[in-house]
Amino acid sequence: MAKQYDVVVIGAGPAGYVAAIRCAQLGLKTACVDQWLGADNQPVLGGTCLNVGCIPSKALLESSGRFEEINHTFADHGITASGVQLDLAKMMARKAKVVGDLTQGIKGLFKANGIDWHQGRGKLLPKLQVQVIAHDGQSETILEAKNVILAPGSSSVEIGAAPLQDGVIVDSSGALEFSEVPKRLGVIGAGVIGLELGSVWRRLGAEVVLLEAQESFLGAADEQIAKDALRQFKRQGLDIRLGARVVSCETGKDGIVVQYQDSKGDHSETVDKLIVAVGRRPNTEGLAADEVGLLLDEWGLIHVDEHCRTNQPSVYAIGDAVRGPMLAHKGSEEGVMVAEVIAGQKAEVSYDTIPSVIYTHPEIAWAGVTEQALKAAGTDYRVGTFPFAASGRARAAGDSAGMVKVLADATTDRVLGVHIIGAHCSELIAQAVIAMEMGASSEDLALTIFAHPTLSEALHEAALAVDGRAIHIPNKKG
Ligand code: FAD
Ligand code: NAD
Repeated sequence: MAKQYDVVVIGAGPAGYVAAIRCAQLGLKTACVDQWLGADNQPVLGGTCLNVGCIPSKALLESSGRFEEINHTFADHGITASGVQLDLAKMMARKAKVVGDLTQGIKGLFKANGIDWHQGRGKLLPKLQVQVIAHDGQSETILEAKNVILAPGSSSVEIGAAPLQDGVIVDSSGALEFSEVPKRLGVIGAGVIGLELGSVWRRLGAEVVLLEAQESFLGAADEQIAKDALRQFKRQGLDIRLGARVVSCETGKDGIVVQYQDSKGDHSETVDKLIVAVGRRPNTEGLAADEVGLLLDEWGLIHVDEHCRTNQPSVYAIGDAVRGPMLAHKGSEEGVMVAEVIAGQKAEVSYDTIPSVIYTHPEIAWAGVTEQALKAAGTDYRVGTFPFAASGRARAAGDSAGMVKVLADATTDRVLGVHIIGAHCSELIAQAVIAMEMGASSEDLALTIFAHPTLSEALHEAALAVDGRAIHIPNKKG
């Protein structure tokens, strides 16, 4: 007899596992089906984010950041370090432990909340049934649900010009596992993954060349911030080539010969490792039986409304497999919303204020609209900026690159967007998100007291600058 549930979730990444926990908290009998196998070939929860995404990449960014600091910035503080050595195997083992501890934590949360974890591949069948094929490919279980939440996540896009080759031409997962620092590393795609993982290996000693197809850099970011970022990354030694279209890759005895074209003609670069980081696509192939009639768009994303309802009754979809940014926190918020909707509550996601962060150094973070979007929409706005170079705390830290930019509606003064480049701005952006979520004006931020000396004061000053009242920089007249 089939097992009966109020909710069956397919996928245990940050969208699915959070949805499952919230459903269970709300008293719904919940199961979660997941097919992920860890490095030891054992089933593990957490999906892309915990296993090969957010967490391991941030562990390596943290470790490589410390290596870079000790080699390059300690001397400025009067600290001389000698005999500094890199133990890459230990760095990797630390990363694996961080991942292991966190995925075990999700397992504990499932147990504590009474969630049944079904290990294997899930498929939505008609009449809200879910088929689970176990990892051995043999045994099949059928689950019956009153509601199904699809959270299958996404996978790296592959390109014909650079087919993956184990340990040589790799996707982001392979780039988290190099056993030695490449001498010369190529990266196809100067997006979020290219910049973060390119930074890790540059800090550890690789020469890094990024080949980006677009003529513009970080198109989703505010143009002023992206321009500043490009300048700073180039200064660090990241060799970012824009408008570069990779045509082919050939592996020979000297390494990988990457042929590419740009507006100046044909070029070739020889590297010893190559990362392909050109975006991600939803894992929706074979997720639902044809008879279900689940509607997908042309990219394979599951079609959903603003409450993540699919075209099928009682079937919801969340996370990377639906429209919107492919971000862990976006998927998690959708998971909470859907659980609450299923439980009969009113719930929504504030899609307009989802923060984006790029964990390079300096970090880049933003929420709300960009200046170019305001211009394109013909919105009358005011802008205030404040450089970290004028922040006492940033100066004391010896880390004063970047700035804060606040965009406010010229009529209502409501904060429409905040864009930051600078150290720790992944944390600072939360203040802007809270302000925007509360419908704050730039004057509200200007009237708020910020502790001195903190980096947060730069947000205060940028808000004051909207009205030409910043204290620690000369204000623009008019
Ligand atoms: P996933 O995390 O992909 O999880 C989906 C799960 O469903 C997986 O376990 C998968 O195996 C399982 N599954 C799929 N189909 C089936 C099926 N049919 N049956 C059973 N199980 C199935 N985002 C951030 O917000 N911050 C970051 O710093 C960040 N860093 C990243 C770094 C890297 C290198 C990468 C690759 C991504 C990063 N992301 C980051 C993006 C983030 O990982 C994703 O947005 C997030 O994991 C999406 O969550 P999800 O639950 O939708 O899907
Ligand atoms: P991305 O969309 O950020 O960047 C891909 C880049 O590759 C783009 O700039 C694109 O123009 C370029 N590109 C595409 N095809 C190309 C080609 N053939 N040759 C050269 N360049 C090409 O995608 P990503 O970096 O792969 O990341 C995937 C997703 O994972 C993103 O949506 C991101 O939201 C998420 N992610 C988030 C974080 C974070 O939040 N810090 C970190 C990593 C990944």
